[in-house]
Amino acid sequence: MQFRDLGAQYRALKQEIDAGIASVLEGHDFIQGRSVSLLEHELADYVGVSHCVACANGTDALTLSLMAWDIGPGDAVFAPDFTFFATVNCAMLCGATPVLVDIDPVTFNLAPAALEQAILDTLCKGKLRPRVVIPVDLFGQPADYAALREITARYDLLMLEDGAQGFGGAIGSQRACSFGDIGTTSFFPAKPLGCYGDGGAIFTNNADWAARLGFLRAQGRTPEDKYDNRERGLNSRLDTLQAAILLPKLHALQAFELEAINRAADWYTERLKDVVITPAVREGYYSSWAQYTILLHDKTRRSGLQAFLKERSIPTMVYYPRGMHQQTAVRRMGFDNGSFPVTEQVTQVCLSLPLHPYMTESDVEQVASAIAGFLR
Ligand SMILES: *Cc1c(COP(=O)(O)O)cnc(C)c1O
Repeated sequence: MQFRDLGAQYRALKQEIDAGIASVLEGHDFIQGRSVSLLEHELADYVGVSHCVACANGTDALTLSLMAWDIGPGDAVFAPDFTFFATVNCAMLCGATPVLVDIDPVTFNLAPAALEQAILDTLCKGKLRPRVVIPVDLFGQPADYAALREITARYDLLMLEDGAQGFGGAIGSQRACSFGDIGTTSFFPAKPLGCYGDGGAIFTNNADWAARLGFLRAQGRTPEDKYDNRERGLNSRLDTLQAAILLPKLHALQAFELEAINRAADWYTERLKDVVITPAVREGYYSSWAQYTILLHDKTRRSGLQAFLKERSIPTMVYYPRGMHQQTAVRRMGFDNGSFPVTEQVTQVCLSLPLHPYMTESDVEQVASAIAGFLR
């Protein structure tokens, strides 16, 4: 069994993907080619914003966004403690200071009350200027944007949605990557929309930011004169080949993959809800299920279950084994960062199970009955 079966997806979409790759090879427009602008238009349309700027990966998408807002030394960037390192790395790369915030124990997303407390603490200490909040749509479920928006409005902060795992999710009819002032995603192969290498995209309704992001991803150069660079930027473009691969994958995601992965998640929940703590999707929310993450009773049981499943050729992952405050690179900076009891608890007992749109009900049954067998 595969944790996320990219081979099954390729077999299902082979004709379109192969044709897309061949057309790029024949057209040899490898950099900023036609498929890139086509993809940017389709992505913006799908997400429901006016601008999409594709770039080299999800980390650059976050970093470029902070650069477009001139975030730097002395600025506080609020981010959840329980996430992938890129969410805080982007702030550090810009010279800003990440201020970590604990999570909600049910959704694993940024806890609004803890965020407000962290902002008040930062203001009270008076060393850093609160500027940006980066909510993460962890494991595919959008963060609590109604509550978070009230807070960013109250303290006049910018919101950068890290939708690397959230692409395809929604709250009501509003799609993920459209909740922030800027939203970003990643096309790393295992994400809900993945390419065959690295890729990323930035979404916004603000035309000025979108234009600046267009310069910043191309070394800060002006569109009028390729050899006049108006500011420092990154070299961070999405390959035309990756865009050509993403187009049929985006169509499949819309046509059937999201529905299929939600069905598979439901199969798990039906079978496991009385056995372990299963992931909860809030009323009115739609998840793109980047991960299906259960909680066990304790760390010993988790490692026992993981080994038991491995013997039965069922792969599992611990997303994530430690919080950002426990990362060496963060600790070394000596940030004065509070305590994170929810993150610390979740990192001890979380376990992500195999899940993808091409999983059958009998695959799910096999995993679920093995889990029930071990815990009984
Ligand atoms: C994957 C991921 C990123 C970074 O994406 P890359 O394309 O690997 O740079 C950022 N944030 C989160 C939450 C992620 O899961």
